[in-house]
Amino acid sequence: AKDAGRNAIQLFRTTMQHAASARLQMENDLRQALLRHEFRLHLQPQVDARDNRIIGAEALLRWDHPKLGPQSPGLFIQLLEESGLIVEVGDWILREACRIGAYLLNERSVDAGAFSLSINISPRQFRQSDFVEQVMRAIGASGVPQRMIKLEITEGIVIQNLEDTIGKMNRLKKAGISFAMDDFGTGYSSLTYLKRLPVDLLKIDQSFVRDAMAGDGDAEIIRAIVSMAASLGLEVIAEGVEQQAQLDILQQRDCHLYQGYLFSRPLPLEMFCELLDSSLAR
Ligand code: C2E
Ligand code: CA
Ligand code: CA
Ligand code: CA
Repeated sequence: AKDAGRNAIQLFRTTMQHAASARLQMENDLRQALLRHEFRLHLQPQVDARDNRIIGAEALLRWDHPKLGPQSPGLFIQLLEESGLIVEVGDWILREACRIGAYLLNERSVDAGAFSLSINISPRQFRQSDFVEQVMRAIGASGVPQRMIKLEITEGIVIQNLEDTIGKMNRLKKAGISFAMDDFGTGYSSLTYLKRLPVDLLKIDQSFVRDAMAGDGDAEIIRAIVSMAASLGLEVIAEGVEQQAQLDILQQRDCHLYQGYLFSRPLPLEMFCELLDSSLAR
């Protein structure tokens, strides 16, 4: 029995060492990924359900590992965040997204007043002291109009320093950039911060949409978020919409903007443009 215990501990250690070295290996690979141009941004359309018009897109990071293939964003983005690499990669994301925005405007006749490009900002990236300059540089280099750019933040950004957050957001807002509060409803502090943060749009978290038909309160939460948004003068969009029945419930609760597999998965730029063309032609 003693041996078995010792073996179990040994196995545990070995497993932990493997996990640690696999993680280190991944981190190294991520470090190389930027230089080797292994990152791409996919675009997921955002739609107005009332006329099926594409009103914007969210840029989502993709990584094709040279040996292991496509990696799950949830996992490798957490690694980027924890290792601090997100600052550098985040700068690339900003520049690439702005470049795509300018391309859509100049080559694909998207209307800058009626189409926004949403970019996810990680808390660590936002906390950089020169974050505002970073955004303005990316926009300036691409020539994309400021009002086409929307930054998606989460409550995680706020926790650290509310005054600093508000200051940065206000400077960017003055320049014409707008803000979306991502994963709305999942944090514990939504209401307190919402009053003070200059956000323009609430994104109803997928978890509420997923179970909206279950009759266990999610549809009521959706209704509450929508009416709160309305009274604060904010727009609201639902994400993770996969089924027509979910969209029906959302529309019954006056949420008409949505994002989800029901309309389209995130797409590579070329495919997104084809979708754009066919929906403009309709
Ligand atoms: P998020 O910002 O909440 O992004 C929405 C996620 O939901 C995306 O997952 C998207 O592909 C997925 N999704 C969209 N529609 C549906 C649907 O109908 N059903 C389901 N089941 N899922 C749907 P993805 O691309 O795997 O990204 C996961 C998370 O990784 C994002 O969650 C975001 O937190 C982070 N992320 C992705 N791209 C970036 C980025 O460029 N920068 C930063 N900082 N984070 C990013
Ligand atoms: Ca997002
Ligand atoms: Ca989200
Ligand atoms: Ca999320």
